[in-house]
Formats: sequence, structure tokens, C-alpha cells
Amino acid sequence: MAVGGDRGELRTVSRGAELAELLECARMAGRSVGLVPTMGALHAGHRSLIARAVAECDVVAVTVFVNPLQFGDRSDIEHYPRDLVADLALCAEVGADFVFAPSVTEMYPGWPAPVATTVSVEGLSAAWEGASRPGHFDGVTTVVAKLFSLAGRCRAYFGEKDFQQLAVVRQMVHDLSMPVAIVGCPTVRESDGLALSSRNVRLTSAERRAATVLSRALAAGRRAVAAGDTGVDDVMATMAEVVATAPSVDLDYAVVVDPTTLEVPAAIVPGVPWRLLIAARVGPVRLIDNCEATLVTRGHGRRRPSVGAASVGAASVGAASAGTRAVGTRAVGTR
Ligand code: AMP
Repeated sequence: MAVGGDRGELRTVSRGAELAELLECARMAGRSVGLVPTMGALHAGHRSLIARAVAECDVVAVTVFVNPLQFGDRSDIEHYPRDLVADLALCAEVGADFVFAPSVTEMYPGWPAPVATTVSVEGLSAAWEGASRPGHFDGVTTVVAKLFSLAGRCRAYFGEKDFQQLAVVRQMVHDLSMPVAIVGCPTVRESDGLALSSRNVRLTSAERRAATVLSRALAAGRRAVAAGDTGVDDVMATMAEVVATAPSVDLDYAVVVDPTTLEVPAAIVPGVPWRLLIAARVGPVRLIDNCEATLVTRGHGRRRPSVGAASVGAASVGAASAGTRAVGTRAVGTR
């Protein structure tokens, strides 16, 4: 299938070997390659990643693959929205060059037999989303490693919306010396603060309204940190209290973490871009969100954590040294 794009015709590729060859040819011709891995049902959040890749790279490939390895919940994958025609139109409009949309058996030839070789990032994958969705990050890192292997040397664009995923992927790239520069991109939100997500289309209008409590809880947590509330438990309780105002929202966790290790700190010291992470179930959908929270006091410049070797971009966070450290236990939440 071919759709016209601003930089030429968008080409749809379903074979991994073909994608690898196209991108290798581009590099041989001296062109830089950008990769945007997605599960499709593309929205303005994905669009921002693709647009940035188009702005920064000569050739851009968007991957559209609903990866069964990363879904523990059968109903979640069965109901995951899919619309390849609309995805191709968006990719063409933004100026991508290739869409790689493989079948499940193209990616995992023996499927549904178990995949023999998987990639697992210890430590960072264990807490938060990892604890609530066992095996999820192993599925993510396995598919992303395969995509990186096919794509070769490139810049790969990921959203901060999935903050833990971004940290886990950075760690994998660092640990396995992959020739990929990870670019973290800011979260795109609706005007009422709700982070865009492909899963939002599954919310009823009442659930959609209730879901704004996540970003409101983050805003309250961020204000508490900025106001000098250095008690980690107090900040987390503040976020949980906001979520409790929406009885239909079932909080999983609302935590303050170190942006590099994803561990809950002992105290919120000034100058560090702490991260607030939140996850909750709203109706049939599990939603996650996060934001930065910094306590700035006079005399303290802003300190960024150490940045991993492959890190690129102002919005990126480093995770080079985080992989094997234990992550603090879930601090606030109802499960
Ligand atoms: P997904 O299709 O949900 O796997 O997401 C593909 C990529 O888009 C991931 O790197 C996500 O973090 C990113 N992404 C999803 N939603 C947003 C958003 N609202 N803003 C920015 N990036 C996003």
C-alpha cells in the first residue's frame, strides 16, 4: 500500500528483512535514520514523536505493531484499538518515509509458541508498571530490541508519557551497546490535562471526565513539592487524596521517584527533577501518567541526574547506572 507524503511516497513494509535493507541503503547513501516504535491507533502524542523524527532525521520509519508479548491481560489486547488506514494517513501527512507493520508471525515466527530468546532489564523493570503487569517490560524490551536490530544505527523516539518504559529502554541500549540514540519527547495532553493515550477511546464520557483526576493529582503533587513539602509520604498522600475525590477511579500507585533509579527517595532535596508517577484503573482501562517536580530553593541551581551515553535531547533522562538497584516498595495506593 502506498500513500503520498510530503517527502515522497510513504511506503508500507511488512517484512523485517525489507525494512532492514531499506534503512541500510539509506545509511549507505549518507542519510540519517529515525525510528518511531508504536502500537498504532496513532494520535497527536505519536504525531509529535514522528514530527520530531522528521525534523531531525533524513529518513523516518514508524513501526506499527501491537506486541502480544507485552500484554498480560487478554482483554486488553483484544480491545486494543487498531486502524492502520488512519495510521498510514497520519504518517504520510507528517512526512514519514516508511511504516513497518508486520504480522505477529513475522515478528515471532513460532507464535503462539513461547519466544526462546527474550531481553530482560533487571531492576528498573521490577517496580510500578512491572509489579502491576508482570512480564510487561520483558515484552517491551524484547520487541524493541528486535526493532533496533532490524533498523540498525538510528535515533529512536519515545514518549515521556511512558516514563518507566523510557528508562528501561535507555538502560537496555546502554547495557547492550546498541547503536541507537534514544530521544525522549514530552507528553502531549488534551486541553483539560488528560495525557493522550490510544486507550482513551475506550472510556465512556463519564469515565473520560473522571480520568482527568490523574493529571490533577500530579499537579497537586508538583505544587506540594514546589512549595517546599519535602516529606515524600506527604506528597504521595496529597496525590492519593486528589484521586480519592473520583470514587470511580481505582488508584494503583501515586509516587515520587528518583528520575534515574525510579526508587522512592528518603527526602525531596532541592534541585533534582524528581518524577511523580501515577497509575489507576478507570472503568475497563488502566491509565498512567507522570510529570517532573522540582523543589527550587535560593542558592540551589537545578541538578540533572547523570545522563546515559546514548541519551539525546533536552527532555531525556539518564538511566545508565540504575539497572541493578532494588526499587522501593509501593508507597501509596489501593490495589
Ligand atoms: P504506544 O503506541 O502507546 O506504544 O506508544 C508509542 C510511543 O508513543 C511511546 O514511546 C509512547 O511513550 C509515545 N506516546 C504515547 N502517548 C503519548 C503522549 N500523549 N505524548 C507523547 N508521547 C506519547
